[in-house]
Amino acid sequence: MRRWSVAAVCAAVVLGFAGVAAAQIKQSKSNFEDKFRQLDQDWPTPNDQRLASGAPGPGYWQQRADYTIAVTLDDANQSIKGSETITYTNNSPHRLTYLWVRLDQNRFAKHSDDYLSMPAASSKRMRFRDLRHEYYRQKFDGGFKISELTDGRGRKLDRSIVGTMMRIDLPKPLEPGEKFVFRIGWSYKLIESRAVPIKRSGFDYFRKDGNYLYNMGQWYPRVAAYTDAEAWDNRTFFGLGEFLLEFGDFDVAITVPADHIVAATGTLQNAAQVLSAAQRSRLKKARNAKKPVFIVTRDEALANQAEKDTSRTKTWKFRAENVRDFAFASSRKFVWDAMGYHQKSDGRTIMAQSFYPEEGMPLWDKYSTEAIVHTLKTYSKYTFPYPYPVAQSINSATSGMEYPMVSFNPPRPTEGKDGKRTYSRRTKYGLLSVIIHEVGHNYFPMVVSTPERDWFWMDEGFNTFLQSMAQRAWEKDFPGSLGAPSSVVDYMLSKNQVPVMTDPESLLQFGNNAYRKPATAFNILRETVMGHEAFDHAFREYARRWKFRHPYPADFFRTMEDASGFDLDWFWRGWFYTTDHVDISIDRVVEASIDTKDPDIEAAWARRKEATAPVPRIVESRKDLVRRIDENPDLVDFYNRNDAHTVSDRQRKKYAKTLEGLEDWQKELLKSGDTLYFIELSNVGGLVMPVILEIVFEDGSREEVRWQASLWRRNPFKVRKLYTSARKIRSITLDPHLETADADLENNYWPRRPVKTRLELFKARKSRNLMKEMQEPETPKEDSPK
Ligand SMILES: [Zn+2]
Repeated sequence: MRRWSVAAVCAAVVLGFAGVAAAQIKQSKSNFEDKFRQLDQDWPTPNDQRLASGAPGPGYWQQRADYTIAVTLDDANQSIKGSETITYTNNSPHRLTYLWVRLDQNRFAKHSDDYLSMPAASSKRMRFRDLRHEYYRQKFDGGFKISELTDGRGRKLDRSIVGTMMRIDLPKPLEPGEKFVFRIGWSYKLIESRAVPIKRSGFDYFRKDGNYLYNMGQWYPRVAAYTDAEAWDNRTFFGLGEFLLEFGDFDVAITVPADHIVAATGTLQNAAQVLSAAQRSRLKKARNAKKPVFIVTRDEALANQAEKDTSRTKTWKFRAENVRDFAFASSRKFVWDAMGYHQKSDGRTIMAQSFYPEEGMPLWDKYSTEAIVHTLKTYSKYTFPYPYPVAQSINSATSGMEYPMVSFNPPRPTEGKDGKRTYSRRTKYGLLSVIIHEVGHNYFPMVVSTPERDWFWMDEGFNTFLQSMAQRAWEKDFPGSLGAPSSVVDYMLSKNQVPVMTDPESLLQFGNNAYRKPATAFNILRETVMGHEAFDHAFREYARRWKFRHPYPADFFRTMEDASGFDLDWFWRGWFYTTDHVDISIDRVVEASIDTKDPDIEAAWARRKEATAPVPRIVESRKDLVRRIDENPDLVDFYNRNDAHTVSDRQRKKYAKTLEGLEDWQKELLKSGDTLYFIELSNVGGLVMPVILEIVFEDGSREEVRWQASLWRRNPFKVRKLYTSARKIRSITLDPHLETADADLENNYWPRRPVKTRLELFKARKSRNLMKEMQEPETPKEDSPK
């Protein structure tokens, strides 16, 4: 313990100028880093379209594209042929001389940028499926074959194809406020989903019954977005950074074999032509059902797939309003269940529907539609009411993928040799997670229309954050700890890292970078930095401001601060612009009691301190030593009779005089008797974060102390803070609820604790003995004949 003199600085410290003490911790001038510097200079200058508040401004504009499409699925050749009429509305104040259209399937063309720029990870090891992919792509003749490109009156238009993008040169400039109508005809071969990684669409072939299941996304030429922030969003598609598209209405006619069931974005317009009377009445019943109702049962799907009627076709007509994309799925294998979700906030009923082959049972029938409803309920709570009439989960052999009202989700149970189906814990929770995730994407980026090509995290980070909230609301111990701060620690310590604010095509460890880290950051922001109320208000404000619009990162960062009143630039910088990690250490705790200035009390204190101090061995071991002054008492004088702490009257008078010169409150402080703890912390990881301490006192009582991250603003690496208490502290734990993603917990304790481990004992492996292997017969199997 240290005796602490209050003489000159007591008032400053006790009155809260703790910063003075913090500033006394030395830091060199050159390495000072202002981790709280405002980010405005890094963000685009606010303007009439995008305000400094993060809201769209009075000058905000957005283009529009409406589609009428007719498409035919060729089940015999796994290809499609389509034609579309696009009405493009130029709402911008700019004159346009060309339009850009996305041809994402060109990624699977023979000499695509994606394929040609794909490096081999290793020359020593390769997965079977990666080599299969290599050969598949060498042979596969994919990509859009454009058969027609004309204006509304049938006149040919000039075009130029660059990778996955097509520029259409307009016959005359499109002035602000004008519309341009044009037609495109196309066809392409579908890829086999299982042969290609990150495919997003394609077909799945079922060897057992010879049928196909089609997941159709990015299947028609789509007009690229043109925005005030980046003009044409026309970079080629490599498979990761997805897309930004304009909102519009879709009328789509899908022709498929007559025994197929089709699920699509939007509402079915001709149920009477494509569904049986029984299916229609079941659909009606499902609208108000408490549990999912089968529209097509397992037995019906089995009969359908066995019959395989390829002689006739049917055309399914769908209409979707105010969507930025359109997807569908088709198969004669589909089991279909549905249930209405009554959305209280706006009184609408949304049809939650699932489509899967019978191979998805048991699992899909139990969980898929329930998971859709759960997703809508949870996501809407934090954003806005789900705006569309349907939400669908469709089984696929692709990885999970999202489109408006349509999601493709892969897991299925496994089938044993005896034909019995089982599923692992991983498959069950994998299915729940992927459905919540992909259905959740309806909010981000399908409604809050995020520029995914530029900012992967704005698509996946927001969605994974809400997914983590929905998973926690599904069951208490939902596996995977998504969003838990501890789940991101290993990544944040890893070497191969880039900041979250990195172009999608250059991301390293993209799952951790674009999904896990921002999702965790938002969870921490909500739980620890802002609190639920402030965060939820600001986040909802962002979602409402930008729904059916195209926000960019600064619009989000600015809205969160503008709506909540929190200065969060330090947080955005640490979590989104750097690869720093969180590691705060309790370096030292100095325990001080106040010097009372009373000479008698101070002398007694000093004597006690001496008496309780350990006796050095050099003194201890000479107890029997006969000293000179013991033998010659006349050597004893005044100083032997009075120790160094002896108090004189002069000191007492001086003390009385000092007291006279003090104000009453100063005298109070001298008598307080409290213990003063100077807690010294260092920021090892570099990321500034709030300091949360659990203090345990000697009497067993506890107190939680929370200090704002702004504690670090004068010195982001070392800080000292005073904590006063009438009770003595026994121990201190930093981040006791594991809420800050602190990477090294060993330095979170005062006093330090032993590090616990489980030691595994093992035998050394024997080297191979070929001679023995050759001599010994193989052990016969139990069931082999004896
Ligand atoms: Zn996603």
